[in-house]
Amino acid sequence: MKILVIEDNVQNMYLIHFLLESNGLTVLEALNGQDGIRLAHEEKPEIILLDIQLPGMDGYEIAKIIRSSPDIQDIPIIAVTSYAMAGDRERILAAGATDYIEKPINPETFVDQIRVHFPQNQVNSEIPE
Ligand code: MN
Repeated sequence: MKILVIEDNVQNMYLIHFLLESNGLTVLEALNGQDGIRLAHEEKPEIILLDIQLPGMDGYEIAKIIRSSPDIQDIPIIAVTSYAMAGDRERILAAGATDYIEKPINPETFVDQIRVHFPQNQVNSEIPE
């Protein structure tokens, strides 16, 4: 299972990468939207984790681009952001995000919050429940 993480904060990236890899998942890192969209096209990850506040393109713009790109438009996008207000949540969902996880990341629940969006046919025994 490949997960693309688009996140510009190196400490958040390190934590997310560690949590996912510890659970047997392959992590692709992108520090900005341009690299993230390119990697999504090239690698076709099963899930995209998307920060909202990024240099250059923000997460809203990135989500809209992914949703309008036929080869990657069905990949679940999970927004990971420090924005906690309801309006921001609605806005990123309207832009195309599938779900929303708030920072600070809770290491005990983070992977489970992502796991619910794994493609059904790929939820397998390598990931213990
Ligand atoms: Mn950021």
